[in-house]
Amino acid sequence: MRVEQSLLAESWNPSYAALGFDPDDTDPLFLMPAVNELVSTDASGWLENWLRRLAREQIAHHIALIGPRLQRAPGKVFVMDQRTKWGNCSALGNLSFNWRLVMAPDDVLRYIVTHELVHLAIPDHSTRFWLTVRSHCPGSERARQWLAANGHRLTVDLAERLAGENATDTP
Ligand SMILES: [Zn+2]
Repeated sequence: MRVEQSLLAESWNPSYAALGFDPDDTDPLFLMPAVNELVSTDASGWLENWLRRLAREQIAHHIALIGPRLQRAPGKVFVMDQRTKWGNCSALGNLSFNWRLVMAPDDVLRYIVTHELVHLAIPDHSTRFWLTVRSHCPGSERARQWLAANGHRLTVDLAERLAGENATDTP
């Protein structure tokens, strides 16, 4: 089980903290419905689906909190996978978010959701836009800095990562 635990320790603890679980107090594996599936051949597919589902829930949570304050609601919400883009607001008012943000600290996901929701009202990156983002997400500057410094770590290839860890496990 070393593979799963090392992956959880590095990437998932912020999400567990966001869900109100104390990672020191609780075995994080208990939340995973079928951890044994992780050792199957499609481990990375299973893991990605699980993270995407978690991302969808957390994005919906932030939209429900912040949207009403902005008096804006998105049309459709998509969860996507792009290497370099974290979020998008279309001309039709649909929002897209990169599921990989679920592996970042919770403030980062909240910032990106706020950013795209504010775009529903202010399409540019004017001073008014940034002031509005900051007023609804006080941690936005820190979140932007975190993404600039660590964003590349979120683009980890889960299949490669699991294969690599397995290789080091084999004598
Ligand atoms: Zn923007």
